[in-house]
Amino acid sequence: MTEPADPKQILLTPGPLTTAPTTREAMLRDWGSRDGAFIEMTARVRARLAALANGSEIHVCVPVQGSGTFAVEATIGTLVPRDRGRALVLVNGAYGKRIVRICQIIGRSHIVHETAEDTPPAAGDVAARLADDATITHVVLVHCETTSGLLNPLAEIAAVTRTAGRKLIVDAMSSFGALPLDLSDITAEAVVASANKCLEGAPGLGFAIIEKQALAAAAGNAHALSLDLADQHAYFERTGQWRFTPPTHVLAALDAALDAHEAEGGVAARGARYTANCRVLVDGLRALGFETFLPDALQAPIIVTVRMPVDPKFDFQALYDRLNRQGIVLYPGAVTQEKSFRIGCIGQVFEDDMRRTLAAIADALAEMGVARDGLRPAA
Ligand SMILES: *Cc1c(COP(=O)(O)O)cnc(C)c1O
Repeated sequence: MTEPADPKQILLTPGPLTTAPTTREAMLRDWGSRDGAFIEMTARVRARLAALANGSEIHVCVPVQGSGTFAVEATIGTLVPRDRGRALVLVNGAYGKRIVRICQIIGRSHIVHETAEDTPPAAGDVAARLADDATITHVVLVHCETTSGLLNPLAEIAAVTRTAGRKLIVDAMSSFGALPLDLSDITAEAVVASANKCLEGAPGLGFAIIEKQALAAAAGNAHALSLDLADQHAYFERTGQWRFTPPTHVLAALDAALDAHEAEGGVAARGARYTANCRVLVDGLRALGFETFLPDALQAPIIVTVRMPVDPKFDFQALYDRLNRQGIVLYPGAVTQEKSFRIGCIGQVFEDDMRRTLAAIADALAEMGVARDGLRPAA
């Protein structure tokens, strides 16, 4: 990016995202990691994150340094028992597949229930898998599969998991803070997310909201010292401190981002803003002639996957470069099996930003000479 931030630069990606000036400004001072003020900030942020999921009674928030994947790997390694644990991983995209890789690499027994990238797992099928295999201890679900933008049926999967007496781990990375997830309504042993998606913080910190009793039972289970959330939790209990160098500036930014989240009106208001962004984007793309990968009923208001147009004159890289020069950053690289590109609706972006993006796309199409018909996907 060589252009100055005028017009406003926006990231229409699945994270890191456009952040608020107050969030960036919160990073302009240094913090002593063992200082009282930082210990207090850590406690405050942990409590605020747990409260967002209504999990403050039986759950506790344990943050971990790194991106979201670090938090997913830490949670699975900490909670799925080494010897008698077995995870049923529900897969319909790249993030579900990543969880399978984590289980393979850290040596946690697992089986996979895979559906197509545009198909949520049916709760009845999951119930049948659980009935078939009494050795399954955990179900692992990706809430919003960011590969496609699909919203998986969390409440239904949580209900069948609970009925079968198994534990649920939710990768809520791309939904946490924007889509409702209430731990007094659904039963989950752990919910995993990160600072830099719908909370609109800076990247560098993940966290899990975990049942306290599960953490107590998990002492000594983790595969890695730095990713041992039970050990980190015990250390927080004793000292209020992080075990190893914390991302001090990122935590301060998250604290400020949580202020902004609260001022906006919490999860409901943030979800409503993203939903409005998504509506403007999807309607506008369809009006131009593009086809979205998902039907509206499965589309979460997080990121929109667009089928790659058939017309050879359509050049995604040229579109990307043109929008980039106008301060609009798309996400290059598809992760769906079908050719596609994605445009995010999350971060400090608003309906006007979506309209500006659509206008810029329309201009780019005119310049490429792509006709409306040419925007249909290859059969
Ligand atoms: C972003 C994301 C992750 C974590 O990705 P990182 O690049 O490690 O931050 C995990 N799961 C889902 C569903 C995500 O959207």
